[in-house]
Amino acid sequence: MKVPFLDVRNAYLELKPELDQAVARALDSGWYIFGEEVAQFEKSFADYAGTRFAVGLGNGLDALRITLMAMGVSEGDEVIVPSNTYIATWLAVTQCGARPVPVEPDVDTLNIDPRRIEQAMTSKTKVILPVHLYGQPAAMGPILELARDKGVQVLEDGAQAHGARYRGKRIGGHGDAVAWSFYPGKNLGAFGDGGGVTTNDPELAERIRTIANYGSKVKYVNEVCGLNSRLDPIHAAALAVKLPFLDEWNARRGEIAAYYRKHLQDTCVRVPTPQPDCTSSWHLFPVFSQRRDALHARLKEAGIETLIHYPIPPHMQQAYQFLGFEKGAFPIAEALAETELSLPIGPHMTLDQAAYVCETIASFQ
Ligand SMILES: *Cc1c(COP(=O)(O)O)cnc(C)c1O
Repeated sequence: MKVPFLDVRNAYLELKPELDQAVARALDSGWYIFGEEVAQFEKSFADYAGTRFAVGLGNGLDALRITLMAMGVSEGDEVIVPSNTYIATWLAVTQCGARPVPVEPDVDTLNIDPRRIEQAMTSKTKVILPVHLYGQPAAMGPILELARDKGVQVLEDGAQAHGARYRGKRIGGHGDAVAWSFYPGKNLGAFGDGGGVTTNDPELAERIRTIANYGSKVKYVNEVCGLNSRLDPIHAAALAVKLPFLDEWNARRGEIAAYYRKHLQDTCVRVPTPQPDCTSSWHLFPVFSQRRDALHARLKEAGIETLIHYPIPPHMQQAYQFLGFEKGAFPIAEALAETELSLPIGPHMTLDQAAYVCETIASFQ
């Protein structure tokens, strides 16, 4: 049996006639930037996320960077980030000229440990930037309480958490803003790059829109030095077709995750612990093993594709040498990077495939 990590084509095949029709409609409209398709999707996604506004953007990294810019983050400022995340979270901060201040995760939730945030804050801290890593919501209650106390803003990296819930409410309406990615492999993915931001703050939404459009509200009148980052109508049209299926797709991911959790209990891997007040979107299913590389090789031999998220934590990347962090600076993030392995998961994976993955891991000595 072959088990691919994730075949993004399956979502297209499931909805092919509707998607083909929507893309053809976008092409036929003659509007290839902004327009009705984008406005419609923004409205539907804002409704879904439980916020007043959604702004479509070019990709998830831009969504993070532009929102930080719109929040006033610039040179000399500090932003609290997880020590274990995809590098985009940090890149958004350094692209604003600000300094990422890493905080270690809680080993159970794998998300930024709210108990460690306060000691990392200084008078320069402008924003706390939690990531809902692997699809499981970060501890938004304590994070928002601390942010309110200290008078700082909260931007969430929701790139892996479309449809996830914290205390019953979907990710979107908790902090000041959420940055989203619609990269093809995300839970809600376009047919190319795409991104966006949701917020309840009308002024923040307006600033984001302006920055993303050359810093201009009125054509050829530029208020700020903006950039060009917009969600394309073709992608908006496709995303609007997929959005009504997101909850069902996430539920199917949840079934695979539940199966894995049950059947991997007494094996050599540690499985993630769902938190009582969270519903994960199960973007990824990470397991942890001291013999990760051997397990990775064994699964590959058996036709099972797995990936590592992520093999090198941002502070150990060559790109961030200039920040001056040594090996050992963030031991929890480093240990996770050495032991993590993501198992195949997705809305079109079958329980037979999950069973085969579990049997293969159970027989790994
Ligand atoms: C995918 C991802 C991003 C970046 O999104 P792009 O659309 O690829 O730019 C940012 N943060 C996290 C946690 C991600 O998984």
